[in-house]
Amino acid sequence: MPKCQTLTNDSTIFWDALGTASPEVVALLANYLYRSPRPLTLSKLLSFGRPLSPDSIMSSASYALSEIPRRLTRRIRALESLPFIVGTNPYVTRTLEAHRKSFEWLATYPAVGSLEENAEFATQLEFLVQSHANDIPTLAKGFQECGRYMSPGAVSDFLDSTIRNRIAVRLIAEQHIALTWALGRSLHYSIHDGVVNMTCSPVEMIKACSLFVGEMCEATFGVHPNVVIDGHLDTTFAYVPVHLQYILTELLKNAFRATVESHWKAFGMSSLREMPSVIATISSPQSTAGSKNSSYLSIRVRDEGGGVSLKNMSHIFSYAFTTAGRNLHQEDETDGGPYAAQHVGGSAAIGGGTKGEAGEADLFGEITGKGIETGVGTLAGLGYGLPMSRLYARYFGGSLDLFSLDGWGTDVILKLRCLEGADEVEI
Ligand code: ADP
Ligand code: MG
Repeated sequence: MPKCQTLTNDSTIFWDALGTASPEVVALLANYLYRSPRPLTLSKLLSFGRPLSPDSIMSSASYALSEIPRRLTRRIRALESLPFIVGTNPYVTRTLEAHRKSFEWLATYPAVGSLEENAEFATQLEFLVQSHANDIPTLAKGFQECGRYMSPGAVSDFLDSTIRNRIAVRLIAEQHIALTWALGRSLHYSIHDGVVNMTCSPVEMIKACSLFVGEMCEATFGVHPNVVIDGHLDTTFAYVPVHLQYILTELLKNAFRATVESHWKAFGMSSLREMPSVIATISSPQSTAGSKNSSYLSIRVRDEGGGVSLKNMSHIFSYAFTTAGRNLHQEDETDGGPYAAQHVGGSAAIGGGTKGEAGEADLFGEITGKGIETGVGTLAGLGYGLPMSRLYARYFGGSLDLFSLDGWGTDVILKLRCLEGADEVEI
């Protein structure tokens, strides 16, 4: 019987004070030590839904059952290899325990033999994904407390590989979950792409994210700038919508905050002067060339929020670098080590977060934080928005670059690889 009762949203129950693995888990992990994750391509992931059938769902289940534990083994090993003092941090220990528990559950899960058993497996897998929703904020809190015992490079390498691994695990799990429910809905065989939306609309996504970030900004500052969308408005492209949503939310949060703060700095908080809009421009070379010779979709998010100072430019993609919570009239970042001086532990989250508030997971299990007073969300404060967004953009071979016109504003250029026909992309 699957041990579903051990899965819960409250990962604290997985935490034992010593952070040691049970003998059963140690034995299981040893078993998996030499089983490296098999390279996963997008085409492999999509193949289970093309066409979607009871047989393909069975293959998808066994693929998830074999691949996810392999990837969790890597994560567990990486967490166990952190310097001792970091490993004793309660947040880090909690994350490690949650991974061991999930690994044990998956590694001992019986083979799925029928559609009914698969429905049960998919339900439990969904719980498992949810139980890990807070992993990154939890780790962020851990590194906030003890990251100084590691070099900034080591922290950033660790977080990069943790987040990449997590994206892959979620893609495998969520693909299986999406296909399982899709098969349940349609009794006849069909093509279903699961987590990839073949006609993802950037304009719709920008509108939805602007609305959400606007509410967050309103709750924080009482005002928010408008968003103007231009460019190739009708274009659609194949992508993983939750990835695009995550990136756009983070970019808009940064643009909104910069716009309001720099407007207030220039004209005062009570000024009735209109705030400059944030401009999101969509560019799809397919639309201009009229052929599918280019497989990238670009979005530029432009604001007149004063830009990033030269001094801060080299730090903005570092985990935990933030200027949030500092007085509007304060000068740019003070001297000191790039990690220690700008560490998030010293700043308050904008939006009602407490000092060093690690934030909570948003709908997609990533960091957006949750304002304690506003209840809507935290606009900034962890310093994870840009590095994580760039990681997401690069995941399928895209890019994210920030250009600052110091004193005027910022352009962020996001290029995302269209996933249609990009079957060989490795995940
Ligand atoms: P956070 O928003 O939590 O501070 P981010 O990683 O999103 O973390 O951004 C890091 C820092 O980069 C911000 O604190 C801010 O100083 C700077 N930054 C990012 N985007 C902008 C922007 N559009 N305009 C001005 N500064 C920006
Ligand atoms: Mg941000």
